[in-house]
Amino acid sequence: MNEKKDRKNDLMEKVVSLCKRRGFIFPGSEIYGGMANTWDYGPYGVELKKNIADLWWKTFVQKRDDMVGLDSAIITNPKVWEASGHVSNFNDPLVDCRKCKMRHRGDKLLEEKIGIDETNKIAFEEIGKKMTELKITCPNCGGTDWTDARKFNLLFETHVGVLVDKKNTAYLRGETAQGIFINFKNILDTQSLKLPFGIAQIGKAFRNEITPKNFIFRTREFEQMEIEYFIRPPKEERDWRDIFERWQEDIKNFFEKDLGISAKNMRWRRHDDNERSFYSKDTYDVEYNYSGIGWGELLGFAYRTDYDLQQHIKHSGADLFYRDENGEKFVPHCIEPSWGLTRTLLAVLLEFYTEEEISTSKNKTETRVVMKFPKQLAPIKVAVLPLSKKDELLAISQKIWINLRENFRVEHHSNGSIGKRYRRQDEIGTPYCVTVDFETLNDQAVTVRDRDTMKQERIKISELEKYFEEKLA
Ligand code: ATP
Repeated sequence: MNEKKDRKNDLMEKVVSLCKRRGFIFPGSEIYGGMANTWDYGPYGVELKKNIADLWWKTFVQKRDDMVGLDSAIITNPKVWEASGHVSNFNDPLVDCRKCKMRHRGDKLLEEKIGIDETNKIAFEEIGKKMTELKITCPNCGGTDWTDARKFNLLFETHVGVLVDKKNTAYLRGETAQGIFINFKNILDTQSLKLPFGIAQIGKAFRNEITPKNFIFRTREFEQMEIEYFIRPPKEERDWRDIFERWQEDIKNFFEKDLGISAKNMRWRRHDDNERSFYSKDTYDVEYNYSGIGWGELLGFAYRTDYDLQQHIKHSGADLFYRDENGEKFVPHCIEPSWGLTRTLLAVLLEFYTEEEISTSKNKTETRVVMKFPKQLAPIKVAVLPLSKKDELLAISQKIWINLRENFRVEHHSNGSIGKRYRRQDEIGTPYCVTVDFETLNDQAVTVRDRDTMKQERIKISELEKYFEEKLA
């Protein structure tokens, strides 16, 4: 079996096409002609996304004694976003091409030409001039004459109630993190938590991105998995640095051990002084090498000091202090790992898409496409496939299906040749196929085929449940 796996640009195209063909991700509003850059998660996409989120929750909430969860509202009081700084500072530099009038994000076009570090050194007011000077071409028409950059706020505005006016403007949340800060007191009051502790949240976030693109990499509606990890105000750097480094280790382990992403496709890019927020003491972008895009942020990781809680104390007047066992009162600092769930899903799709040359029974070779997801992530764990639609086989296969689905996500398919059914299961990454054949009627056993090795073994029906409990543990 000769594994060939390219990381060239066409990998992204292959993944996008497989996602549509097999029911992972569909273009949004398709029957109405589509809605640019919106995507709907189909039957396998929703399972994969849920499995990634569940694994994350299990790792960072369920298996720890210092973490709790939250699910806060998407529409909040607009003051939340004034306090957080999003209303005034959550801006992208918008530049217009003077030739075709198309709008673009100036910083992203500059990054493509001169890299992120050089781009960060350019002041906001200089972006348009620099783009013209460097002859950066408009992706739409090839023009090289740019307007000055204007600030474009990314918050999605909406109106609450029947009137559309300034008084009832609200925002869809631009990140899940603010929901955590505004519930800090509720959580302290209801849980017995001692510092350091963290609050985790998974959910949708919305940003009015100027140029959403690259499949689900940059969309206006996406999902995040965020943690705010609260610590005592440090007396010296080691006090926060030790915890920061432990989180780096935990994050690395999650990517490499739990998600199975290879280290060579990940990197930690540290923000320099130009890029880092003024309140942060250290920040990294954890990046994945997205085929066809290059290195792109998958997770933001920052020590944010006490900036967020202090902002909410200032704007709301609420008591967001922590009182320790000695009665000392202070505002905790926090460390924030902020994952994109949908960007993680894209990394997983690209990482595990595999093409293999295999020889057929007729001594020919053909290409097999396999999604080699770790078993925990696979949307479907087992496919039960009766060799024929004869009643005596269906009676057994359906019984197996009904039994197994108590514990696992299982599919049952009786249509098409067995070869075609295997190919389909390979493409959606199902780790095991169970084939019920005529021999089953005699030996009360079935054939179990392993997705990765394609090896088959005969297992007694009575032992199947235990077999999968071990294999899929
Ligand atoms: P970028 O520089 O790519 O715009 P960001 O620095 O604005 O990202 P953060 O505010 O740090 O992103 O958000 C945390 C995470 O949320 C990111 O690491 C990313 O995985 C995810 N994310 C942010 N914006 C989007 C988007 N428009 N579409 C999909 N995921 C996103």
